[in-house]
Order: sequence, then structure tokens, then C-alpha cells
Amino acid sequence: MAFKDVTYEGPHAEIATLTGSPLWGMSIEDFTKAAVERGWYNFDDFRPDTPYGKGPVVQHFLTENGRHVIRIPSYGGVAGEDLRLRHTDHKVFWILWKAGVKVVLIGGTSGIADWRPEGQKILPGDVVLPWSFMTHPEHRGLPGTEFESAWPKYDLLLDDPFCTQLWPLIAEEARKHSVIGSVHTPDKVHVALVIPSGITFETTYDIQRHVVLSKMISEMFSDQPPVVTLHGDCVNPVLARLLGMHVAYYHMVANIAQGLPMPQGIAETLYGLYQNEFVNAALKMELALLSTMPIPNGDSCVCKVSLHTAPKVFAHSMTH
Ligand SMILES: [Zn+2]
Repeated sequence: MAFKDVTYEGPHAEIATLTGSPLWGMSIEDFTKAAVERGWYNFDDFRPDTPYGKGPVVQHFLTENGRHVIRIPSYGGVAGEDLRLRHTDHKVFWILWKAGVKVVLIGGTSGIADWRPEGQKILPGDVVLPWSFMTHPEHRGLPGTEFESAWPKYDLLLDDPFCTQLWPLIAEEARKHSVIGSVHTPDKVHVALVIPSGITFETTYDIQRHVVLSKMISEMFSDQPPVVTLHGDCVNPVLARLLGMHVAYYHMVANIAQGLPMPQGIAETLYGLYQNEFVNAALKMELALLSTMPIPNGDSCVCKVSLHTAPKVFAHSMTH
């Protein structure tokens, strides 16, 4: 399959945000207005061409302290377009790669499937710094580039898929916002992100299966923090690591997952949070973190040391 030969003509920055649903209560124009009010300069927005077709909107800002920031709203989603059919993931990561991005901030929202007793459960309104994720067929490489496949060139390990140097900073920022409930970190609870296989919420069976698995895992590995799952977005952490990027992921819990006992229906819970608490907190978190979050040292961060170059002979054993 051939892809177009395209030269990237967009902005360059070391840090970018792909944050989606925490900011769904706010238009792109309103985000820009808030950034400008903070003292950021907004260069012209544009939609770059990519080898996979026209890309999503790319925003380029200069923060009040002189840092270039790229913002691709809502994970690169275009209203009404299917993410898979339109190669959204490929377009977004091609842009980030060409733009020289080293840190990607991603905020998502999700449904919590927590098997633990009342009083210990993660609840809607809480913020979670995820520990891991369930791999998905969507988590692949960048077609038509040297990063199309990890093997045989690299051995990419995912013990800690999300940047361990950056999550404490996000947790600290999240705790400043009183509209947010508790903030849950990987040293206390092992939350794994799971993306739906379809185009909407999971079935009750999907969720019950994960609840049972999480409880069994927690009992078998009782010397480690308990495991629960969050069901929502998980923008390709595999490709990010292959491209040498640090992923700073946070999730705002919007609802109890499908099929579990809940005081209110899913829609009633999440519409209120999206349009009030989440958007207010996420906006402040994004503007603060994008301005101040450091770029981790490449030699020490798990995001870098977990990417191993394989012996060259592996490639010579294949057709080439
Ligand atoms: Zn890192």
C-alpha cells in the first residue's frame, strides 16, 4: 500500500497536547481565547497534509514563558469521521513526529470498573493517573515510514507505558482543583486503560469480564497495588514510545462502567461533569502543565530505556 510523499510544513515544538473529552465542554475557539487571556500567543491554526490525507486542526501557541506548544484538539478527531477509517492515529503521530515533539500530554475521560468495596472505589469526578493499558489492534506503527513495524529493529517493552517522571506533576496539578474528587496514582492503585472494540460503550458482559479479571489479578498479585480498569480512550502508547515520546496521560472518571450498580444513569452523570467540573479543571491543568512541565532526561526515563535496539541479524533473516 502506497502513501503520499508529503513534506511537513507545520510548527515545531517539544511538547504537545492531544487532550480530548475533558475539554468537550468547550469549543476550540473558547480554548484559544482562554490561552490568550493567560498571555499565550496563538499562531494561525491550520490543517496540514499528511501521507494519510488531510490532517486534523493543529494549533500552535507560544506560552507566556516563551515555550512553543502544539495542540491537536480531541485526539485528532474530526466531527463525524471514523478514527480507524480515516487513519486518525497515523495522521496525529506523523504530525507529532515531524514536529519534533518529545512530550505528549493526553487527558481522557472514562467509565470505572472497580470491584472493591464502597469506600475504596474510584468514583465519577475523580482523576486517575493510569498504570498500564490493554493492548489493542489499533495500537500499531506508522505505515510507510521506518516506524511501520517495531520488529525486527526494536524490542519495545511496556512495563511502565506512561511516563513515570511526569505523572507526579500531573497529580500535583490535579490536586489544586477543588472541583475534582480524589486523585489516584499508580503507587496506590494499578489502573489499566481499556478501549472499546466498537464505536460506543461496552456491553455489560464486556465490563463484568474485566471486573472478574481485575479481582483475580489483585488476589494473585497481592503484594502489589490492586488492579481495576478504566474504559475509554487510550491513544497509542506503543507508537508514542516507538517514536521516543514521553506520554503524560490523565483520566477524568466520568461514570461507573456499563452494567455495574450506579446511583445515576451514565448519560446523566457524564453530561454534567463534561460541561462543568471537567472542563474548568482540565483547562487550568492543561495551560499550567504545558507551560511548566519539564522534558524528562532522555538517559534516565523509562520511556527511553525501555526501547531496545535488536541485533541487526534479525532483519537479515527476513526478506528485504
Ligand atoms: Zn518518560
